[in-house]
Amino acid sequence: MNYRHIYHAGNFADVVKHAVLALVIERLKQKEAAFRVIDTHAGTGVYDLSAEAAQKTGEWRNGIGRLVGPGAEPLPPAIATILKPYLGAVRGFNSPGSMTRYPGSPRIARALMRPQDRMVVNELHPEDCAELQAEFRRDTQVKVMDLDGWIALKAMLPPPERRGVVLVDPPFEVPGEFGRLAGALKAAVKRFATGTFILWYPIKDREQLRRFKRDLQASGPPKLLAAELLIRGGTDPTLLAGTGLILLNPPFELDKQLEAMMRFLASRMAQEPGGGWSVEWLNGEI
Ligand code: SAM
Repeated sequence: MNYRHIYHAGNFADVVKHAVLALVIERLKQKEAAFRVIDTHAGTGVYDLSAEAAQKTGEWRNGIGRLVGPGAEPLPPAIATILKPYLGAVRGFNSPGSMTRYPGSPRIARALMRPQDRMVVNELHPEDCAELQAEFRRDTQVKVMDLDGWIALKAMLPPPERRGVVLVDPPFEVPGEFGRLAGALKAAVKRFATGTFILWYPIKDREQLRRFKRDLQASGPPKLLAAELLIRGGTDPTLLAGTGLILLNPPFELDKQLEAMMRFLASRMAQEPGGGWSVEWLNGEI
């Protein structure tokens, strides 16, 4: 396991993923009934952006750094409204006007949960998992697990609340991760058909991506939405050109919010010519 999220924390992919996670959680909160957040590849709690690893890549500067903190342009009001839950959570870890700490998915979700809600976070890397355990040691609403994420996914479904969101965010450091993701989704849906699932994927090899989406479509979950943001054009399969999310059972009309958000982020996050965005139903609602 070579992947460490500190090198990438707060980058453009985190911005998209965490903004969407926050929007889904806010929708779950519209009903009083408790829900559960399940995070199968959780990373750690909060990332220190002044740490050597974060400084080395500086990825956060072209991600969250373009939205909040010194030098960030103000947001158009409609976008500020859509991003409010996410940016509120991020700002909660920073003093006004600064950007020195970035919360990972467990901390963003936790910041938005109510007293009746629960969360299970899973992380296989021993150091990151130890950090998570320390972070949530005294938190009775959060359980930390140290399993392989694909096994954890099976073990955690269905949640007792029968409502919730499942984030599946693997590092894609071993071959075959797209196949595992598609397979895991098929199995998970059988156990928790009404849950909202958010699956992250990198946009590098376009042909592989087409096969992945065809495979998901054919497996037939009824409501399947794909949202993608490209920060550059080009077809070099070794270069990260963008970030993608598959949403299964997204909340009603989330696609409309995502269209506005992705259109804005595509211009704000662009790094090279040829970028863009899309929000596309693979199955179900158009
Ligand atoms: N979800 C986090 C967030 O949004 O802040 C970032 C997670 S990072 C992209 C992927 C994480 O998966 C890493 O922390 C890595 O250590 C962990 N990981 C790698 N292989 C794993 C596996 N088989 N099971 C569970 N976690 C794994």
